[in-house]
Parts: sequence; C-alpha cells; structure tokens
Amino acid sequence: MTRLRTELPGPRSLELAARRKNAVASGVGSTLPVYIDSAEDGLLVDVDGNRLIDLGSGIAVTGVGNPAPAVAEAVHEQIDRFSHTCFMITPYEGYLEVCEQLNELTPGDHEKRSVLFNSGAEAVENAVKIARHATGRQAVVVFDHAYHGRTNLTMALTAKNMPYKHGFGPFAGEIYRVPMSYPYRDGGLSGAEAAARAIDLIEKQVGVDTAACVLIEPIQGEGGFVVPAEGFLPAIAEWCARTGALLVADEIQTGFCRTGSWFASDHEGVVPDMVTTAKGIAGGMPLAAVTGRAEVMDAVHVGGLGGTYGGNPVACAAALGAIRTMRERDLSAAARRIEDAVLPRLRALAEKTSTFTPSAGTSTSGETSTPSAGTSTSGGLIGDIRGRGAMLAVEFTEPTPDIASRVAKACHAAGVVVLTCGTYGNVIRFLPPLVIPDDLLAEGMDIFEQAVLGVAK
Ligand SMILES: *Cc1c(COP(=O)(O)O)cnc(C)c1O
Repeated sequence: MTRLRTELPGPRSLELAARRKNAVASGVGSTLPVYIDSAEDGLLVDVDGNRLIDLGSGIAVTGVGNPAPAVAEAVHEQIDRFSHTCFMITPYEGYLEVCEQLNELTPGDHEKRSVLFNSGAEAVENAVKIARHATGRQAVVVFDHAYHGRTNLTMALTAKNMPYKHGFGPFAGEIYRVPMSYPYRDGGLSGAEAAARAIDLIEKQVGVDTAACVLIEPIQGEGGFVVPAEGFLPAIAEWCARTGALLVADEIQTGFCRTGSWFASDHEGVVPDMVTTAKGIAGGMPLAAVTGRAEVMDAVHVGGLGGTYGGNPVACAAALGAIRTMRERDLSAAARRIEDAVLPRLRALAEKTSTFTPSAGTSTSGETSTPSAGTSTSGGLIGDIRGRGAMLAVEFTEPTPDIASRVAKACHAAGVVVLTCGTYGNVIRFLPPLVIPDDLLAEGMDIFEQAVLGVAK
C-alpha cells in the first residue's frame, strides 16, 4: 500500500472534518471524508499526502484530466483578461465558440442553436421550458430510475425519493413517469417491447398529442448505469417524431467521449431534438448547455433564456480547452480502450464468484433496499455487468443489498475512489478519467477485485 501514508482519513483530514461540522450544512454528504490538496491524471492527493486512485472523475467530470493542461492554460489566460461581463449585458467570443462546438458535435447535422448555463439541473430546466414554449404543450414524460437534478422541477423529473426528494415537496406538475428498458430487471424485454410498453402508457395516461417532450438519459447515470435494450431509444425517438413530442436526451453524464463516442445517442444513431450537457464539458469548471434544433431553440422570445453567470467566460475557455483535448487525444478511443481493459476483468470476476454467497456484513452505510421482482437471486455475487466505454457498472445480486456499499468501503479504505449508484443502491460504477494511465487503472481494478473477494469470504 505504498500510495497510502496514513489510514484513511488521515489526521489532517480528521481535523478538517471536525471543522466542517461547525461550518458546512450537514445535508451535503461526502463519499470519502478525505480532503484533497492536489490531483494528477487518475490520482487524488490528500492533505496527509495519501495518493488515491480516482475511478470516479468527480462524477464523470474530469475525463480530460485533473487538471488538464489545455484547460488550466485556457483558464489562466482568460481570468487575466476578464472574469465576467454577463453575456446578457455585453457578450464575448468564447460563448459563441462553445455554442459552435456543441452544434457541430451533438448528434445530427441539422441546423442547431445552443444556450449556456451553470449546472446540469439548470440545463434540464431550460430544456423543459424551451420544449413547452416551442410546442405549446405542457406534459413532460420521464422514466423510472431517472435522475435529472435537485432543483424543484428536476427533483420532480428524478425518480428516486431518498435522498433526492424526501421532504422537499411539493413538486412541479405535469410530469409523467413510464417504465424504462432495464434488461436485467424487466425479464429481458427487447428494446421494441419495452418501448411499446412505455408508449402504450404515454398514449393512455398522457395522450397522443399532449407531451411537450420525452426526456431520457440514453444510459441512465445515478439510476444505475442502465443501458436500454437495443432498439428502445430509436423506437421512442420514432414515436416522438410521429406525435410532435420533442425528444430531449439528457447527456449530462454520458456526453463528451465518456461512452466511447461524443454522445451516447450516437451508438444507435438517435438524433434528439435537444441535448442537455454539463459534467464532462469543461474539465471541472461549472458549465452546462442546451443544444437543439434551430427552430425549436429560436421559438423562445428574446430575454426568455439566460442567467447572470450562464456561459461564464472562464468556464467557456475551459470548455474550449477540454474539447480540444478530447479531439487531439481522441478520448472516445481512450474510453473504448478502458472498456476493453475493464469488461473482461469484471466478467472473469463474475465467473469466479458465481458460486459465492456473501457473508453477513455489518453495514453502517444506512443504505437499505428491498429485493425487487424479476432479478436473479440464484447465487453468485454479480448479477449484471453493463455500460459502455468508460461508463461501466456492476450490479450485485440481491437480497443482500449492502454488498455494494461494503465493497465500496473496502475500496475507499484501500485508497480507490469508486462510487455506488442505482435505485436499489446495489450498483458500483466506474467512471475513470479518460486519460488514466493503464497501470493505474489496472491497480485500481486489482483493489476492487480484492474488495469483492473479501466480501465474499
Ligand atoms: C448530474 C446529472 C444532472 C444534474 O447535473 P448538476 O450539474 O448536478 O445539476 C442531470 N442529469 C444527469 C443525467 C446527471 O448525471
């Protein structure tokens, strides 16, 4: 354990944790109470000098590196010239350039427009505003297990009560939830069958011509890295095109090379009417966007969209540096190489643990869940392995829902940052920086495998 100098958290982190108690609202959690001092690609160095392997990228944000040289340079250069004017008062070129890049890179070669914001939730809110304005309709269709943010409207769009919505209502109206294609849990419905099930519900409960938009993560993020069965997304897109509902792809977690192409919609050739982006867009600087068909985006009256900080010049400079890095280093190919390195290891681990039953653990995570219908509990630890590119996940078998949190804790103690997710809290997700060195990725996966085998003992 040469990367660790102390137990985690170390003494300096413990000091800061004590200060935090009296300064920071306790509603903000932290996966690891380890305070970071600096970072390198794939490594986080804490205030005690421990070096942690980063398989989370700050939730799919620092794919280009941390800090990425092109991002750091662009930020320095911009902050020395000016930090802010407010694009709605006196505009600047960087905002235009980011919009031009987004219009070029997002799926489809139709005429597009973009608008910039600060956070993913804000982008999703605005996509809904634009969809309602452009269509003159109000209903918004979302899916089981969806995650779209923590503001009032996006809480309503998000599926999971705890921790995102509990006690925070009342929520915004005119939102309708339908079943997602979730092959591991829906008995293996084909994409077409799962789409027919969702569409039937929409038509019966919402109507054929009342939906402003259907909002979907092409691969669900917080909901468990759920990859819909092939054909699901194209069938939903076809229904939208036929009925006049706008298809909004929430690519906030999946975008910017993460899944092995610029956007996850690209894998099945789906062309959404609008795309929301954030997270990976600007190498860690806060920036988000809505990009969509010109006639949809331009339907909104002048002054109807905006915000004080949206498209801040420093964040725009960072985005241009990040996108240049993605192009120059072909980070889509890097994401596919990560998939090629990690998937076989996860499959071998599933094989190796196929006869294991988990030991009774003493979970202290507070994560509880009830076994759900339709999943295999026939033995073994790993129920499903899924994802694309550098967005990969393991869903552990139930009914021992705390395996994932125990494995995550063991990884954290050994200095590897992994994140859990999923409606049932039983998924571990891997979101390594796209620039992570091969040996570091392998070392992180070694530690993950040991953690899983440890839980199985
Ligand atoms: C993270 C996320 C959001 C919310 O983004 P914030 O920047 O945290 O507001 C919305 N949708 C998806 C798919 C996300 O992963």
